[in-house]
Amino acid sequence: MKVLRYCKKCKIYTLKLRCPKCGASTVSPHPPKFSIEDKYARYRRKEKFGNLS
Ligand SMILES: [Zn+2]
Repeated sequence: MKVLRYCKKCKIYTLKLRCPKCGASTVSPHPPKFSIEDKYARYRRKEKFGNLS
């Protein structure tokens, strides 16, 4: 699976971890799904603690 990455400086998309133009480290333009699930998991934990206290 190819992961598209983005250079903020050059405003171009690349598949490499570093921008081929300026050499800066690229970022993924969209947050990965598992981080969103992690947020929901944290909310669930909070709800559980809320019920206990
Ligand atoms: Zn760049």
